[in-house]
Amino acid sequence: MRPFFTDIAGNLALRERIGNDIVSGTLGQAFILSGPEGSGRRTFAKAIAMALCCARLEDPSCPLPCGSCLHCRQIRENISPDLYYIRREDKKATIGVDAIRAIRPSLLMTPVSNPVKVYIFEEADLLTPEAQNALLLTLENPPPYALFLLLCESPEQLLQTIRSRAPLLRMEHLDKATVTEYLLAHSAEARTLIRSDPGALDATILRADGCIGEVLSHLDAKSRTALNTQRERTFSFLNALTAHRAQASVELLKAMGTDRSAMLSLFSLFEEALRDCILIRHSDDPVLSFFVSFDEALQYTGHASESLFLRALDATHTASESLLANANVRLTLHIWAMDCGLL
Ligand SMILES: [Zn+2]
Repeated sequence: MRPFFTDIAGNLALRERIGNDIVSGTLGQAFILSGPEGSGRRTFAKAIAMALCCARLEDPSCPLPCGSCLHCRQIRENISPDLYYIRREDKKATIGVDAIRAIRPSLLMTPVSNPVKVYIFEEADLLTPEAQNALLLTLENPPPYALFLLLCESPEQLLQTIRSRAPLLRMEHLDKATVTEYLLAHSAEARTLIRSDPGALDATILRADGCIGEVLSHLDAKSRTALNTQRERTFSFLNALTAHRAQASVELLKAMGTDRSAMLSLFSLFEEALRDCILIRHSDDPVLSFFVSFDEALQYTGHASESLFLRALDATHTASESLLANANVRLTLHIWAMDCGLL
């Protein structure tokens, strides 16, 4: 079997279906490609363009796309004359009809150096109804060399008429093993991190919930350090909470500073940890989001009662809401510690 889209993790059935359609020349001319931010839909859209234009399309011994011919490289680097992006303008909430009018002249001309022209709509769910209707006219009668890829998080935002013209392709949710395998094959940072701190890599993958794009964006050293600091603080607060060490809490609170966004990210981690602590009391095989393993979570639940965690969870949720509503940071932190039972 010829390997298709080897730069895309998971999504085997989808890769095979689209790859076979490209090789047999039966690929449709418009698709909606949906998935959450970071799920790989942009990478996949570009890979589809590369496969259609690849110089080795007809060489069954070569993976498709080959990734190294001129056409593949031009598309990957976004310098292909036949690749178009339709994007939201800065500071605008939607994509208007002008964006569709702007691509019309290019549709009248055949591709410059490839068999197809590919139009990638990065946030198709932001197209206004007027823009979607304008696009519909094109989708109803597209020139034979055009391919339209409509990327979105919420395909239901698109008009039914668009959805009936463009089949929906969903990027699948990836499990931890698939993400890890992909990262180790494609990211030098991931390979370094798994040697120096495998727990941190696991934690980053868990937090990203299957989105490779998000893991990659966290793997740069700066955000990794910031995340690690907040993780360490979360562990310390959990220790102080379960061991009823008020003095330790006072020291921790002093060290916290008044950075609102750092505080929010700590609270978000703390909430995840508390939820894990509650979950492991109800299941032998829970899906954890903060702790790397059941045993690690068990370490922190100690002999503490479930009501302690529930109370802390409530307090943390309330404190996050207060911070988001612009409450004083120090005061919120103090109230949070009291309500949690840390003091
Ligand atoms: Zn190629």
